[in-house]
Amino acid sequence: MQRRIKKVASYTVCGVLVCSMIALAWVSTFRFRSVCEKCGAIRQTIDWQFPFTRWTVFERSRVYETPVSRTLATNGIVKVHDHQWIFASGGGNGVTCALGRASQVQFTVESTSVALLIETLHKSSELSFRDRILTNLFGNRTTWFVRTLPPIGSTTGSLVADDLRQWISAQSEYLDEMASTHGKE
Ligand SMILES: [Zn+2]
Repeated sequence: MQRRIKKVASYTVCGVLVCSMIALAWVSTFRFRSVCEKCGAIRQTIDWQFPFTRWTVFERSRVYETPVSRTLATNGIVKVHDHQWIFASGGGNGVTCALGRASQVQFTVESTSVALLIETLHKSSELSFRDRILTNLFGNRTTWFVRTLPPIGSTTGSLVADDLRQWISAQSEYLDEMASTHGKE
């Protein structure tokens, strides 16, 4: 009798395992990116989900630095913190293209010229304009203002204080104009 119970139990375990494997073979992936709204780091996540549901069976994430997050960290502009992830974009498992509150910010944080601009303003002690750039950078509706700023000192090749002040004055007007036309975040 005991042998028979053991046999039934082993068949049950095998059945559950086989069913689980079949179910796992059926799962679809939803891949998405999030941006930390404090430092600009990016997290890439893959969710294994049952088809056409948001039921996640397994999740795997990878966090990586961006030019902006590296600049903010190495210059001490952002202190050690818990990342605050904002959904940027994703797709898969029946979703073609999902867009979130950081859909545009994800492109700005990967810009080396924006990172260089922040570093230049920081090292030149132009902290007020640096912070204005950061505020616009992390706003999804205003981030492209920052991406489209011209590089500093691109015409002369070298940067002097007067060049920088002139540049800030011109770009400050540009940011005011953009904010009045397209609205603030
Ligand atoms: Zn962060």
